[in-house]
Amino acid sequence: MCMTINCIFCREDRPPTDEHVVPEFAGGSLLIKNVCKRCNDNMGSDFEGPISRSVIFRLPRHLYGIQGKSDNPINAFPNVGTAKDGSKIRVDSEFRPYMTTSVEERRLESGDVQVDLKVDAKDKDKIPEIIEAKIRRIARSEWPNMSKEEVDTLVRNSLESLPKEYEVKSSQPTIGYRESIDLNHLTLLMMKIAYEIAFHHHGEDVLEDSEYARLRETIYSRDTKSKISGSIFPQPDPFVFVTSPDNCHCVMLCKNICYVRLFNVTAIIEVYGKESVFSLDDENWALYLFDYKAKSWRKENFIEYLHSAIA
Ligand SMILES: [Zn+2]
Repeated sequence: MCMTINCIFCREDRPPTDEHVVPEFAGGSLLIKNVCKRCNDNMGSDFEGPISRSVIFRLPRHLYGIQGKSDNPINAFPNVGTAKDGSKIRVDSEFRPYMTTSVEERRLESGDVQVDLKVDAKDKDKIPEIIEAKIRRIARSEWPNMSKEEVDTLVRNSLESLPKEYEVKSSQPTIGYRESIDLNHLTLLMMKIAYEIAFHHHGEDVLEDSEYARLRETIYSRDTKSKISGSIFPQPDPFVFVTSPDNCHCVMLCKNICYVRLFNVTAIIEVYGKESVFSLDDENWALYLFDYKAKSWRKENFIEYLHSAIA
């Protein structure tokens, strides 16, 4: 017999899976068992995966070494960047720059072809190989009547004229990157965290709340333009005075809203109606802290937490 649960997203009876409230890619460790595998997988591919690879999460994941499911160290800048002089530069997971090879050919008035080559110092032994490939390619496309022997001679002469030593220039390039963040994906992620922490906090009864059901529909339909009120990077941030303990994400339930702070990414999501029985009185505000280094979590009473933080 296969065990099933009533999934809190699709509301169908389906086999369960381990669902991370704060995603694994952000070092979350709190699991709930009321999400089916299909919904979990779909949310992963529709918005969690893409937003996990955006620079706002890549950078802190890199700095704090949070790998999530991946075996490889996270690289904050996996794409090719551009230095001021136009060189294309990659950095490895330790921010060591590496210039990608560039080969440019120029037609001279004499009819000769000049090849300008820029390679990383690490690749200088590959220069003859790169030059030879370039000459053979030019010969094939532009001098089709040249015999194989003639091309070989041209290659040999060109390689012989290469300098024995190369000038190695060292530089500390400023590298530019073009990055984009899909705010719809980010909103869905924050809504999902709010939805799941409220479920964890109140249990199944919360599914009866009509505003909470609307939040579910919003996430399930991926249509963040619905009537759920929420904001990403709220300005002003009403909880800016709450300092996160070292290496912790904060997720707070206060009144009818959820405040989420993952690294420095913040959001406020309305979870229940203002008059809802689930709306929390001041003395019951709940603060969930997720330590992304220790992979642990704990719950605090918000008022008590503030007092202990001051003391
Ligand atoms: Zn489901």
